[in-house]
Amino acid sequence: MATEINRHTFDEVMVPNYAPAQIVPVRGKGSRVWDQNGKEYIDFAGGIAVTALGHCHPELVKALQDQSEQLWHLSNVWTNEPALQLAKMLCAATFAERVYFANSGAEANEAAFKLARKYSHEHYGPDKSEIIAFNNAFHGRTLFTVSVGGQPKYTEGFEPVPQGITHLPFNDLASLEYHISDETCAVVIEPIQGEGGIVAAEKVFLEGARTLCDKHNALLIFDEIQTGMGRTGELFAYMGSGVVPDILTTAKALGGGIPIGAMLTTQELAAGLAVGSHGSTYGGNPLVCAVAARALELINQPSLLSGVTQRHQLFMEELNKLNQQIGLFSDIRGQGLLIGCELRQPWHGQARDLLTKAQDQGLMTLIAGPDVVRLAPSLIIPYPDIYNGIKRLSQAMLALKVGY
Ligand SMILES: *Cc1c(COP(=O)(O)O)cnc(C)c1O
Repeated sequence: MATEINRHTFDEVMVPNYAPAQIVPVRGKGSRVWDQNGKEYIDFAGGIAVTALGHCHPELVKALQDQSEQLWHLSNVWTNEPALQLAKMLCAATFAERVYFANSGAEANEAAFKLARKYSHEHYGPDKSEIIAFNNAFHGRTLFTVSVGGQPKYTEGFEPVPQGITHLPFNDLASLEYHISDETCAVVIEPIQGEGGIVAAEKVFLEGARTLCDKHNALLIFDEIQTGMGRTGELFAYMGSGVVPDILTTAKALGGGIPIGAMLTTQELAAGLAVGSHGSTYGGNPLVCAVAARALELINQPSLLSGVTQRHQLFMEELNKLNQQIGLFSDIRGQGLLIGCELRQPWHGQARDLLTKAQDQGLMTLIAGPDVVRLAPSLIIPYPDIYNGIKRLSQAMLALKVGY
């Protein structure tokens, strides 16, 4: 049967909302992946900042195998040990005192936005409902989260969309100060806009947002779905900025490749989601929580986190060296192992072409918008894989430059 399954099958049986690459990967180990034809790839994409410990990390495989023989699923009619364990670890490692588990990033944000509305309605009345978000932000694809996101193309055709959402220019503190009011219930910020092109929030912007939220009794939500779990070299990016949110959402790398999301908050705010107000059948499932708990244990170690910063420096040095020779990029930026390379004129709009050429060379990368090639490899990618992958990237850059 396996031989009859190939890329053409996608067009025959799948909803056409994705345009997957022409290859079909079948196996991964560490930072290497192999496709149906046995061709090998170095993985600088990390499943979009998900596989933070690489593919099939032996410790995660073991956690999954052990739990798979204990208990898979109960629903939230009963609680379970792995979920409680993971929640305890998240509270111990962060500002949080309470955790809500979901199955994805969008669902974690959905819970965050619902909590912000519910808490604010209960404490200040129904007029306090405005959510302030930022242009180019990405918060997920449910109708609420896509409406909070700041890319109009993602809501076009899905109207009517949820109301009471304001979009402002990112990193523009004056505009936030002008628009925020006592009717604002939450301000939601990605510490680094990921899908929006790897654009970091400035420290003064985060600090200013914190002050303005306090002044207007609005909740500060950090969407750390992409920046969390060691990605920036801190366990969560907020730890590097010194600005503490009221609600934090995480997903992607939280499970190291297994689907899970979480909303972290304080005891006081958590009371806003009283019994029956919100829920999920799978959320906090023992199988995923057992794997995520092991992933968190492995990631939240000083040596792993400092390794992310060291790898960042290596990437930046090598990419800048390459760019001096080939000169495709106007900017190379990012933190930790979330790196964006912005194409300069006349290569604007060709990030996807570079991605395809990199894949031809045996390298998996990502894009973040039409102009930015994004790298989000495993946090423990071996150094030889970094050097080798950069070499493959250089071949792809040359191919794009000379147009073959
Ligand atoms: C990926 C992402 C989401 C959505 O997560 P899903 O698991 O795809 O629902 C939300 N916010 C940010 C910042 C993300 O990067």
